[in-house]
Amino acid sequence: MTQLFGYNGKIAYIDLSNQKIDVKDLDPKIAEKYIGGVGLSAKLTYDLLTDKDYEILKSDPFAGINPLIFATGPLTGTATPSSSRYSVTGISPLTRIWGESTSGGFFPVILRRCGYDALVITGKAKEPLYLSVNDGDISFKDAENIWGKNTRETIELIKKKLGDDKIHLACIGQAGENLVKYAAIINDEGRAAGRCGLGALMGKKKLKALVVKGKKTIEYYSKDELISKGKDSLRNIHNAFAVNFFSHYGTLIYSDMGMVLGDIPANYFTNTEFVAENLTGRALKEQYPVLKYACAGCTIGCGRTTIIEINGEEVKVDGPEYETTASFGPMCGILDFKPIIKAHHICNLEGVDVISGGVSISFLIYLVENKIALDEIKKKYRILTWRK
Ligand code: SF4
Repeated sequence: MTQLFGYNGKIAYIDLSNQKIDVKDLDPKIAEKYIGGVGLSAKLTYDLLTDKDYEILKSDPFAGINPLIFATGPLTGTATPSSSRYSVTGISPLTRIWGESTSGGFFPVILRRCGYDALVITGKAKEPLYLSVNDGDISFKDAENIWGKNTRETIELIKKKLGDDKIHLACIGQAGENLVKYAAIINDEGRAAGRCGLGALMGKKKLKALVVKGKKTIEYYSKDELISKGKDSLRNIHNAFAVNFFSHYGTLIYSDMGMVLGDIPANYFTNTEFVAENLTGRALKEQYPVLKYACAGCTIGCGRTTIIEINGEEVKVDGPEYETTASFGPMCGILDFKPIIKAHHICNLEGVDVISGGVSISFLIYLVENKIALDEIKKKYRILTWRK
């Protein structure tokens, strides 16, 4: 067999219905062709599902055959800068076609060190559970007492239960449990795999969280060359003009650029001109104490934590990111940071995709302001009625 460098070389197939685990070798040809992350997951999904399965999933994306796949790539957690990223994929409960989402933080690096290149999760658990992957050992753990908790509570409770403050996990909040079709998966408290409603798929499987721990090292073809290429990338990153802006202002820097380009829609896509000088990265720093953070191995550090008072208490809130600012801000006709930051916090706690969340609310505002009944829209636009 060809030696596989840069990979764990193992895929774990986890059947929640029967609590069975089947570990298979990663085919080197598949690794070479599809690389890792989303590419590998797409191939694994394609091989797993028959045409009949796809037909079933078109009418019921929550069917147990829908594979929820967590995967990393060969560069995840290496000397390559900003490479702490994982993907999560499945047939989207929202669109009923292929769904993929990615997230950063520290969770991806540890997921990679667990000993698998991908975790393929099928079936549905009878009772809420969470999965623990610890240096190759996979176990099913009772999640009865954390079902119903928000993402921060879930993270704290699992850490306490395991008596380990250092573990990393990805979990869902009440949105995923209640099958909100744009529910997100939250890791490291504020990082989100938000798109395509894969948090709802996790909720339907009654999978509250994925807890990872591991120290597995990967064998590389040439570690020296990998480090040297990593250094080159780092030089290129720091020579790039735009990177400095991301470093100083986080993703909010795009609010400024987007406004100039007319790329930030407002008032439910009916307007692109608005005064948003209060919604820039610089404005955020002027209005609130803002801390900076980075994903593992990243020197850019676009992450932001804002300190804000909520109900008389000082709370550390992740973000707000550009996406939340755009969707809960101008799209909803709001040009003030405070409600946007609060909305971002609520979305992270409940596990809601901030983009779909903000846009849905802006749509509701549009209907109310224009006195349009939802039934009228349904009749007029087939797009809202083609699904049940
Ligand atoms: S901190 Fe920002 S730039 Fe750095 S890896 Fe994370 S998401 Fe990417």
